[in-house]
Amino acid sequence: MGVFSHSRLSSFEDCPKKFHYRYVLRVPSDTESIEQFVGKRVHEVLERLYIAVGKSRIPSLSQVLRRFQLLWDEHYAAERVRVARPENSVASYRGLGERCLTNYYRRFYPFESDETLDVERRVTFDLDDRGDYRMQGVIDRIVRARDEAIEIHDYKTSRRVPSQDKLDRDRQLALYQIGVARIYGEERPIRLIWHYLLPDQVRTSSRTPDQLKDLRVRTMELIDRIRGETDFETRPGPLCGWCEYRDRCPAFGGRADAHPTTAGNGASAAAPAPAKGTAAARPAPRAGQLTLPLA
Ligand code: SF4
Repeated sequence: MGVFSHSRLSSFEDCPKKFHYRYVLRVPSDTESIEQFVGKRVHEVLERLYIAVGKSRIPSLSQVLRRFQLLWDEHYAAERVRVARPENSVASYRGLGERCLTNYYRRFYPFESDETLDVERRVTFDLDDRGDYRMQGVIDRIVRARDEAIEIHDYKTSRRVPSQDKLDRDRQLALYQIGVARIYGEERPIRLIWHYLLPDQVRTSSRTPDQLKDLRVRTMELIDRIRGETDFETRPGPLCGWCEYRDRCPAFGGRADAHPTTAGNGASAAAPAPAKGTAAARPAPRAGQLTLPLA
């Protein structure tokens, strides 16, 4: 495997067997979880919002929500979106997406507090000098703050907000920082910003050069471990309910030739193949990051 990403590394850490199906055997899956579906639509709407803001055409909140509803209707197909918690209606997930966007809009309108440099920016960078450890990722929004610092903004649709200590050790945005520093300059101060849309919370962190160096070393060690892996053991846990390979997983008595899970509750369905470079083409988020339990 040539290029890694935070989501690929996390997939291996969550369950080596799932990683094996998805990234080594490339077992196709034409389904996605409802949490992934909601997350993609929210990201798409926020991407379009900032493109419009850049053209001095700030949409109203009702226009933003209308865009979300249109994208939902355009992409939703019940046979391909898996709902792991059948006690929650599809309409309730749609309502959660709308709440995410409403919270964000009301907090940041009229979107003048910073300068957007890029949205949904794909970054590719090496962890080493020889190019043996190549990483990639998609950054939700890159910002120039009023104090000239560069900020990496990330939208989360999960309900829970991690502790500050956990965010100060977060790998995803710190890896993005390595890529962003190569674009905007190693000397520029860089902040990491998380938007927890559902609880309407914003969190900030930063990394020292020593912390980034340590991260590079640890990430290369993990990549070495993945490259040397031969067993790809199953790791049953709470995320199995969201796993598209459960039907073929040995931990659930599955057959190796079974088709990837097509329904969690009898319903399901995924969006059509996304256009390259769009928010829909983002790597699949970890199920745990997108869990949207109802109150
Ligand atoms: S069902 Fe669970 S144990 Fe099996 S591959 Fe998926 S995540 Fe791993």
